[in-house]
Amino acid sequence: MEAKDLKSLFRPHIVKIKSYSSARSEYKGKGVFLDANENSLGSVAEILYNRYPDPYQDEIKKMLAALNGVKPENVFISNGSDEAIDYLIRITCEPFRDKILVFEPTFGMYESSATINNIDIVKIPLNSQFQINIEKAIEAITDDIKIIFICSPNNPTGNLINSEDIRILMNSFEGIVVIDEAYVDFSDANSWISQIETYPNLMVLQTFSKAWGLAALRVGVFYGHPTLIEGLTLIKQPYNVSGYSQKVIIEALKNIEVKNRLVKEIKLRKAELEEELKLHKVVKKVYPSDANFFLVKVENANDLYKFLVSKQIIVRNRHTAPGCENCLRITVGSKEDNQLLIKALDEYTLVEKAIIKADNEESTLSR
Ligand SMILES: *Cc1c(COP(=O)(O)O)cnc(C)c1O
Repeated sequence: MEAKDLKSLFRPHIVKIKSYSSARSEYKGKGVFLDANENSLGSVAEILYNRYPDPYQDEIKKMLAALNGVKPENVFISNGSDEAIDYLIRITCEPFRDKILVFEPTFGMYESSATINNIDIVKIPLNSQFQINIEKAIEAITDDIKIIFICSPNNPTGNLINSEDIRILMNSFEGIVVIDEAYVDFSDANSWISQIETYPNLMVLQTFSKAWGLAALRVGVFYGHPTLIEGLTLIKQPYNVSGYSQKVIIEALKNIEVKNRLVKEIKLRKAELEEELKLHKVVKKVYPSDANFFLVKVENANDLYKFLVSKQIIVRNRHTAPGCENCLRITVGSKEDNQLLIKALDEYTLVEKAIIKADNEESTLSR
């Protein structure tokens, strides 16, 4: 797909929109601000938040562009990735007509956002290695599919998606390919951001919620061709990223070595946890993970899930996700968290044994 054709992906009425001009976007710099009906005296808080934040998050975009070797025009900041996913669907997909394509099992927000917008979802199952079946994918592509969502490393399976398959899709699809890299910092793979020049229809989604440890701030980032970034900017809420979030993100970006340290430590905890899980009696399979979690197959996921909740250990039950029968998704925790998890699994095996023993005794008696 060529860059000049990107605009044809937008819904017709979106192309006609003039962006809302907020008070704070018309003038930048110092001055006496009497334009936005803010409280000029101060805030009911220790720190002053009486002024609207930068609607375009210029400072953060500059920093992220420099960090990733792209231009600020390639960057869109959102109130969590969830917001960005919704915006992208809304600028490209006409309700009751257009569709998105996903590979299952995967992150639920693509389907959720599409459904809310009355957009159909074409679902292709990942194969037994949780990789894309490329023939099936190509076969399923029709003119009404506007976006293909690829999550790599994939949630909930944890694996990277083969880059050659992704390239084939980007080359053969006349729509947008989103690669969701929420977990890329935990993998050894390079980000796809370096490829946005080569593939105008590629959008890379990242987030501050995982490796950066800033989930509560709600900040996600889309990297892509300026035409696509402009489209998102056209429909976004004027002040979609709060002043507090912007301030903390700027701080965080000045301290990237802290993120790297956290990632390094999470990888250590991950290796320990993997070993413990693989040796554990209740675990049938630990799927290979390029992320900060494991998909783990057990005998009875519903039962184990309930037991863990009773011990106040909360994991994600993925039993009903396609291809994930009797699987739990377990986030790598702190050393202490992981020890508590393993201890609970030990207790579960004892309880299980006791129940089986009681059952056997009962059946012996009744015989
Ligand atoms: C956690 C996660 C995100 C992050 O979403 P935010 O709204 O930015 O917190 C995005 N994609 C995937 C696949 C995730 O697992």
